Amino acid sequence: DPGMDPVVDVVVIGAGQAGLSSAYFLRRAGLDFVVLDANPGPGGAWRHRWPTLRLGTVHGIHDLPGLALPHTDEDRPASEVVAEYFGRYEREFDLPVLRPVAVKAVRDTGSTLRVETARGAWEARALINATGTWDRPFWPRYPGQAEFAGRQLHTADYRGPEEFVGKRVVVVGGGASAVQALIELAPGAAATTWVTRRPPVWRDGPFTPEVGRAAVARVAEAVEAGRPPESVVSVTGLVLTPEVVEARRSGVLDRLPVFDRLTADGVAWDDGRFVPADTILWATGFRHALDHLAPLRLRGHGGGITVAGTRVAADPRVHLVGYGPSASTIGATRAGRAAVAELKRYLAGRAAPVG
Ligand code: FAD
Repeated sequence: DPGMDPVVDVVVIGAGQAGLSSAYFLRRAGLDFVVLDANPGPGGAWRHRWPTLRLGTVHGIHDLPGLALPHTDEDRPASEVVAEYFGRYEREFDLPVLRPVAVKAVRDTGSTLRVETARGAWEARALINATGTWDRPFWPRYPGQAEFAGRQLHTADYRGPEEFVGKRVVVVGGGASAVQALIELAPGAAATTWVTRRPPVWRDGPFTPEVGRAAVARVAEAVEAGRPPESVVSVTGLVLTPEVVEARRSGVLDRLPVFDRLTADGVAWDDGRFVPADTILWATGFRHALDHLAPLRLRGHGGGITVAGTRVAADPRVHLVGYGPSASTIGATRAGRAAVAELKRYLAGRAAPVG
């Protein structure tokens, strides 16, 4: 019976950095809210990141508001450290996170947003969507993909270099995940080949706050114009760590343009080149996980959802946090604060008269 569904000011979908930051500020604003998270435990996407991604090798994890990430052994997997930190954070601020609760669809009832899950529905006056990208790995399509007899996997399935020992591996993609995988795989693999659509962009020079701000501004410009966001890394360029410098010197990061097709036993280019392969690792990135918002028809002609800051231009009840320019731990933290400040004003303006 839809009349029996719980009614709240705000439903937050997702309990990663973006959802937890939003929840912290919703609590402080005194709003009535619930956080619905598809994961079985705390950590957001970090729960699923490969064990060789260590705290000391990630780009940097920004603190959530109000409780700092504890200092700990840099060698520990980031997945463990962040899951513990987020779990402690949820308890410390007594955040109402329900899990595992996967949102299937959000519909406009006219008066509220109806958030539908396998464990019932919620009626919300406003929505903060903080679902990240991990649940939508992007696999490009190439001719012959179904004929390839070896193994194909995406970064989202990567667990470390062990299973590639003795294999001939082709890594596809120009981002940081491709670079890290190649550096890890190369020593044990029989052969590695790196292919990217465009020549990789190396950052020479330090990653300064100015560089970060310029990259974020470029992504913001795209989403405010209704275009789909590029990843922030594609805009900042790849960081030249000592490992990367060494890998470039030794040839591990020599790159070829992407093949034209896959065959049963390798990859082929129209100019006659062929590279035999046992495994293809698609390090081809992610898209925002927004399928559940499809009934709201937020996507415009530019292929993206037009936003003003975090607010969806076409529906002021809906905010996207961790989307486009805020798809980083620092961006998500700030965007949660901004979204709640706006929603607080919006909900106050629409409050039903008392009595
Ligand atoms: P997530 O952490 O993905 O959280 C989203 C949550 O929403 C998940 O718990 C998910 O289960 C849930 N969810 C999804 N769909 C639904 C649904 N329909 N219903 C209910 N729940 C749902 N950024 C940095 O700043 N520093 C780094 O070092 C860094 N390293 C990265 C490394 C990798 C390999 C990748 C892929 C990204 C990295 N990023 C990094 C970017 C990173 O994605 C963001 O920084 C940030 O962690 C994303 O937080 P989020 O809250 O938006 O999403």
